[in-house]
Amino acid sequence: MEKVVTRFPPSPTGHLHIGGARTALFNWLFARNKKGKFILRIEDTDIQRSSEEMTKSILEAMEWLGLLWDEGPYFQSKRLDIYNHHIDLLVEQGKAYYCKCTKEEVEEMRKRAREKGEKPKYDGRCRELGLGPGPGRVVRFKTPLEGETVFNDLLKGPIAVNNKELDDFVLRREDGMPTYNLAVVVDDATMGITHILRGDDHINNTPKQILLYEALEYPIPQFGHVPMILGPDKKKLSKRHGAKSVLEYRELGYLPEALLNYLVRLGWSYKDQEIFTLDEMIEKFSIERLSNSACVFDPEKLKWVNSQHIKKKSPKELAIILKNYLAKDGFTVKDLGYLEKIVPLLQPRSTTMVEMAEKARFFVKKDQEIEYPKELIDKFLKPDVVTHLKELTNRFERLNNFDQKTLENVVGSYLEQKNIKFKLIAQPIRICITGQTTSPGLFETMEVLGKDRTVNRLKRALSFAEK
Ligand code: GLU
Repeated sequence: MEKVVTRFPPSPTGHLHIGGARTALFNWLFARNKKGKFILRIEDTDIQRSSEEMTKSILEAMEWLGLLWDEGPYFQSKRLDIYNHHIDLLVEQGKAYYCKCTKEEVEEMRKRAREKGEKPKYDGRCRELGLGPGPGRVVRFKTPLEGETVFNDLLKGPIAVNNKELDDFVLRREDGMPTYNLAVVVDDATMGITHILRGDDHINNTPKQILLYEALEYPIPQFGHVPMILGPDKKKLSKRHGAKSVLEYRELGYLPEALLNYLVRLGWSYKDQEIFTLDEMIEKFSIERLSNSACVFDPEKLKWVNSQHIKKKSPKELAIILKNYLAKDGFTVKDLGYLEKIVPLLQPRSTTMVEMAEKARFFVKKDQEIEYPKELIDKFLKPDVVTHLKELTNRFERLNNFDQKTLENVVGSYLEQKNIKFKLIAQPIRICITGQTTSPGLFETMEVLGKDRTVNRLKRALSFAEK
């Protein structure tokens, strides 16, 4: 089999959104699975709506997701000569022609066709005039008047379109810019693309593109059109549904592999497996397992998938990520080894990295930054409790080992000696060392905080209680 070459060609008219990321992922996975090549191309010929800022944002999102490309990014705006060369060739060969009709005239033709109950089309009146270039003129493709254009969609099966249904579509606009259909064919052909997986909103373009491949005598790639992602109301997913861009999910604390895992399952399945590592996705991906029915975006499931990936990841890797999320909240942590010890306590309790960073705050705050709200002190640090905690602090201070087991024994024998219940002192200790009423298990938290922090915080809190 020839080497597989796929591509992702976003238009930089907005941020990379969920649907685009899924299309990129499918093409990337297919290329990786077949040990082929994945090309990134920025389709920026719509100068009005494209921006460098969006290009940057898309590249950043692709990099964050880890959908790295083997070639590119190519920019269509830098390839105008190549498109013009192809358009001129088609004109020379009599396969395309200049048209002088104004926008208003074309609109009028469409209107009349609609009134007659026909498909609104350009009527081909300049087709045989043999016009040359001139101001305001576009170049149109001479769509065959007879016959059918047929292709075998990788997902939808055979599709045939009567050429009469298509009109002489524009290849070069009056401003000299190529149209999407022309540029995409020239690019895909000259870049050697073998497989095109894209949203089925493009399915009407495919017959036109095939006609162009034929006219230009280029081999035709295989096309697979994937159903759109839908919102809960079964309409195409959009901002209206609260859909976010890929980078917004990063802000919200999603892991890239979790987002990819969620997206791959929106339209692809492997037995009843839900959680995939990236390597598993690459190994198991196949076009045959892409589904032909539309999927509904489910933010709750995405959250669940994220929590699963948080649990799966090594504390070493998560520590680095956590460090960045803490930094965003203004907490600079230099000691990655410390974060690495914190992470396992928070992994089972965090659905996002933002949540993990929130829960990690009391660990990384300086002792003197821990705040003790008055209500908590009044409620939990009553004089008898303070006496017990002072004695316990003394005992903690004398320990050489500060691991969970030792702490449990020390506290256990203290309780026995004084004949009191754990309940009496557990929450008070938690409040002293964290400044809050919730945290991971008390002894594991103390072990991770270490002796100095634990003792300092207890002493500081108790001094407030005594005031
Ligand atoms: N630039 C087009 C888009 O973003 C690419 C479509 C295609 O894959 O051919 O929709």
